[in-house]
Amino acid sequence: MSFGSPYFTLPRFRYEKPDTLEKALSILQENKDDARILAGGVGLLNLMKERLVEAKVLVDIKGIKELHKLEYKKGQGLTIGSTVTLNEILEHPILKQRYTALYQAISTLSDNNLRNRSTLVGDLCEALPWIDSPAPLIAFDASVNITGPEGYRSVKVESFIKGMAEVDLAPVEIVTSITLPEQTDTSRSIYLKFARGTEFGLVNLAVVASNLKKYVDRSVRIVYSAIDTKPVRALEAESVFKEDLPPRDMISRAVEKIRDTIEPMSDNLASGQYRKHLMQVMTYEALTRIFEGA
Ligand SMILES: Cc1cc2nc3c(=O)[nH]c(=O)nc-3n(C[C@H](O)[C@H](O)[C@H](O)COP(=O)(O)OP(=O)(O)OC[C@H]3O[C@@H](n4cnc5c(N)ncnc54)[C@H](O)[C@@H]3O)c2cc1C
Repeated sequence: MSFGSPYFTLPRFRYEKPDTLEKALSILQENKDDARILAGGVGLLNLMKERLVEAKVLVDIKGIKELHKLEYKKGQGLTIGSTVTLNEILEHPILKQRYTALYQAISTLSDNNLRNRSTLVGDLCEALPWIDSPAPLIAFDASVNITGPEGYRSVKVESFIKGMAEVDLAPVEIVTSITLPEQTDTSRSIYLKFARGTEFGLVNLAVVASNLKKYVDRSVRIVYSAIDTKPVRALEAESVFKEDLPPRDMISRAVEKIRDTIEPMSDNLASGQYRKHLMQVMTYEALTRIFEGA
């Protein structure tokens, strides 16, 4: 990831490595806007080298034991601590089995070396439009757990991302973990990414569905990223699955709703028109695979 900056070195900064959450919070409180949290450093240090992000103090949270938690509890779901690396998440057996879309998204995310250092929380906090983590997390209705001077709060990922590189987080707060609710035995999910000439997707799509056979209880969540400055949920298309229709009819109607109700952006990677075409093809493919597996 380079934006063509002429700089090769990092600017000067003070490095702090607290071993408790309390100490980390107090360093943030003392330095406010001058401080930044450092997790894997994969994104942050690059952006600092490019002089796109400034920080006088970096607060490395990797020494805080309680943040390195990766736990699945039956009936409650999966909790991913903020210093757990992407490769550590991939190794958890429950991920592929119950949270397939997130497993597929992380597998396609950058490369093996970077996944050894990068965290899911770091990827999410960057909130760049084309990143892979938000779509599956929103489709799974995940929450971000945050601690700060005012105490603890939890926010749905859907509202945590507020815009391009903008999240619902004060400079004095720390994300401690992400929680994904339990998935039932009837749940199915899929992640599709269309990328060309870059690791970043032109369209990223996550679908999470449950109770496909009983229409009264059926739930289908469809989320895109890379098509706007923040992720987009296809609410109109999702509502089609509340009707008692054969799968083929529902899938066709959902794709029509996508075509008629979502206007993707144009940028230097692709036109909006091309993205809209990809969204229809990918949605048809994803929903067909979901219903075939039900
Ligand atoms: C070459 C390259 C290829 C990439 N390819 C992809 C790709 O294909 N798909 C994709 O989605 N992403 C991609 N990325 C982005 C990469 O995945 C992220 O930069 C990485 O996951 C960030 O995680 P990190 O742990 O290194 O975070 P850091 O770089 O340490 O932090 C990133 C940001 O999150 C903040 N932050 C981190 N942890 C916390 C916390 N606990 N609480 C509050 N704020 C926090 C930091 O202050 C910083 O602003 C790529 C990056 C590079 C350099």
